[in-house]
Amino acid sequence: KKYTYLFREGNENMRELLGGKGANLAEMSNLGMPVPYGFTITTEACTQYYKDGEKINDEIKEQIFEYLDKLEKQSGKKLGDKENPLLVSVRSGARASMPGMMDTILNLGLNDEVVETVAELTKNERFAYDSYRRFIQMFSDVVMGLNKARFEKIIDDLKAKRGIESDLDLTADDMKELVVLFKQFYESELLESFPQEPKEQLMRAIEAVFKSWDNPRAIYYRRMNNIPSSWGTAVNVQMMVFGNMGNDCGTGVAFTRNPSTGEKKLYGEFLMNAQGEDVVAGVRTPNKIDELKEIAPDAYDQFVNICSTLEKHYRNMQDMEFTIEKGKLFMLQTRNGKRTAQAALKIACDMVDEGMITTDEALMMVEPQQLDSLLHPMFDEKALKKAEPIASALPASPGAACGEIVFSADEAIQQTEAGHKVVLVRLETSPEDIEGMHVAEGVLTVRGGMTSHAAVVARGMGACCVAGCGVLNMHEEEGYFSVGNKKYFRGDVISIDGSTGNVYGEAIKTVPATISGNFERFMRWADERRTLEVRTNADTPRDAKQAYDFGAQGIGLVRTEHMFFDGDRIKAMREMIVAKTAEQRRKALDKILPMQRNDFVGIYEAMNGNPVTIRYLDPPLHEFLPKTKEDIVALAHEMNMRPQDLEQVVADLHEFNPMLGHRGVRLAVTYPEIAEMQTKAVIEAAILVQKEHSEWNLEPEIMIPLVGDLNEFKYVKKVVVRTADDLLKKANMKLNYHVGTMIEIPRAALLSDQIAEEAEFFCFGTNDLTQLTYGFSRDDAGAFLSDYYDKRIFEQDPFVHLDQQGVGRLIRYSVKKGKETRPDIHLGICGEHGGDPESIEFCHRVGLNYVSCSPFRVPIARLAAAQAAI
Ligand code: ADP
Ligand code: MG
Ligand code: MG
Repeated sequence: KKYTYLFREGNENMRELLGGKGANLAEMSNLGMPVPYGFTITTEACTQYYKDGEKINDEIKEQIFEYLDKLEKQSGKKLGDKENPLLVSVRSGARASMPGMMDTILNLGLNDEVVETVAELTKNERFAYDSYRRFIQMFSDVVMGLNKARFEKIIDDLKAKRGIESDLDLTADDMKELVVLFKQFYESELLESFPQEPKEQLMRAIEAVFKSWDNPRAIYYRRMNNIPSSWGTAVNVQMMVFGNMGNDCGTGVAFTRNPSTGEKKLYGEFLMNAQGEDVVAGVRTPNKIDELKEIAPDAYDQFVNICSTLEKHYRNMQDMEFTIEKGKLFMLQTRNGKRTAQAALKIACDMVDEGMITTDEALMMVEPQQLDSLLHPMFDEKALKKAEPIASALPASPGAACGEIVFSADEAIQQTEAGHKVVLVRLETSPEDIEGMHVAEGVLTVRGGMTSHAAVVARGMGACCVAGCGVLNMHEEEGYFSVGNKKYFRGDVISIDGSTGNVYGEAIKTVPATISGNFERFMRWADERRTLEVRTNADTPRDAKQAYDFGAQGIGLVRTEHMFFDGDRIKAMREMIVAKTAEQRRKALDKILPMQRNDFVGIYEAMNGNPVTIRYLDPPLHEFLPKTKEDIVALAHEMNMRPQDLEQVVADLHEFNPMLGHRGVRLAVTYPEIAEMQTKAVIEAAILVQKEHSEWNLEPEIMIPLVGDLNEFKYVKKVVVRTADDLLKKANMKLNYHVGTMIEIPRAALLSDQIAEEAEFFCFGTNDLTQLTYGFSRDDAGAFLSDYYDKRIFEQDPFVHLDQQGVGRLIRYSVKKGKETRPDIHLGICGEHGGDPESIEFCHRVGLNYVSCSPFRVPIARLAAAQAAI
């Protein structure tokens, strides 16, 4: 099997095999761009490595050396050679880009002898030893797990000793000394000397990159971005070019358009006399790309040309890495650039206007999930105007964040778990911080530019970020930072504005988001394209209104029980539950009826005459009862009952397994009065609203939950129909209403042909359907599912992403059987999955009519539904 490819043997369509970086390096080479020679070891080699029990087998090893040989011929240099040594980088590159999550080693091939040769050849001792010390540092970190920071400490100590500030002021002798110190440190920590044999260095580096596929931050990133662990990473071995050889050398990163706003203007940063990660790591604050025009005009012009060629070629905004060696430009990477949601929408719309892409392509360019960041509250303009910023820095990733100051990722996690909102303030972030960045409202860094780690990662996750806020003085140990003479302590509230880069020393009011401009235009394309209807799950007029504003075409699920929890209602509800006779129960229900009717009036109105599906009471009754002794006494008093009697009622209602207990349709079977009351509320509200709005055509949809059997559904439906028809007759109104069911018990899915005889619509309640199909409770599963992820038994949470194999099979079967009986049966989904893009794609494929999701997921679902149709 072929495990290795020269860059010129590959192309952009081979990303599965070569990884994204490898495929694009190949493509750029084929386009005739200046790419240093190299070869790629395939992702299949990586999976084979894991199959062989974390060993690189002989077949792969042989091919690596064969290709090293080819690389040596191409470049005219030899690894470890004393006359003309080849130095290489060893770079990871998965199929999906995972910026900064895996590892890269530069300057490999240097050892105590080769470094001398390089110094002589380049007549540049400082450069040679700078490269060597970097190599030791990266090798130690990536291969041996010795944290980079510990080497940085050695550098800082030396700088302090020399009384200098910048790395640039380190002399050749200083670099030599660093190499000695680094090697000593290496030996003392690892009890072996630094490996001198270049081929050994190479194999160990390759193996380390394979291994980095499974490091904790890569695993976290994969889970967050839903990347399967079976993919593996490719490894690129590439001839080094040097940005650290002097002042006519440099390295940089650029985007063809602004990744934060989407503005059509080359956007990037570079550093002269620097290597690799220097720009991204935020160690020195880099220069703006425009300044390169003066410093290296030829390279700049060439670069601008390449940018536009690449963007046209890939028909997408590109994120590129380059190095300039003695005035000559080299391209080291290109990929579709990560961007904020704002930028994504602007770029998509602009590219359509430029005639570069079709609207379908535009729709595919934006990740549905990303829209989420546009739907959350923004700062109130007025409040913002009044507030005085304490500092201003780079607007690295838009958004409005307001929260308590924390200084580390761990703190951020702890505090959010304790229910606090936090803003993570860091000198600079590193890949280890990713989880903390994820939970924080926003990230504020002291160092680093727009392409720093913090900025890139924040944009990737749609989190708010302000970067490079140099006026901030960190006193982490003392628990505060200062600006001027003001101190801001851990736990103090600050606000940061990711769109302007302003930092405020106070909380600032926020307002809800709206859909307008590019966003609106883009969503219109989505609506034209999709065939799935998008509804919402909403229990209050307020939620319903929000969802309607976000484009919901109806309500797929009103959970009526949520209305029973507050204020006077819970009292009436409790009265009903403890009632001994149907008579008493009716009396209690009569108190609830007007409140519930009112709710429905509000919801119908908020939805502007669009369809509304109301689900009848679902949870086990005991959920409404008082839990503590004190509460019981208080309630008994209020209800004129003896506390011991009430206690008895509560005890009687206890169930060992409430999720499988007296709930759903079973309540209506035992207490048909409840279904009667709810029907009255639904129909009376509809009559009222219909009279008010003669232009609407209300057709309430009544949904009976947790049905598993035709006869139980029939029994309740009869109660509903009798009550409804009675009311309509009395009111002398013609009004269509529909009675359907949720499909959430596997038995109902299996007997869908029978159920469809009576049910006019099915709505797949995939939360319950998932828990009942797997046989584990969704409230308890969290505790053991994490073991399933750790042990690679499951990769995804089946409550977040629909289990298409198992639960999906039931749904497919149910759809088929339901349609056999009732060809025009209306089909939808209303579990959490209704807002998950991947699950929505499934719903489209199996022929559902609609998905229903929470209000804030409605735009996401609209886009996902469009993508499913393309
Ligand atoms: P990441 O995936 O984290 O971006 P890369 O493999 O792209 O890691 O490497 C990081 C940086 O190292 C590159 O942006 C580039 O500046 C530098 N680099 C990698 N390979 C070479 C090379 N062959 N010559 C010069 N610099 C290189
Ligand atoms: Mg890179
Ligand atoms: Mg349910």
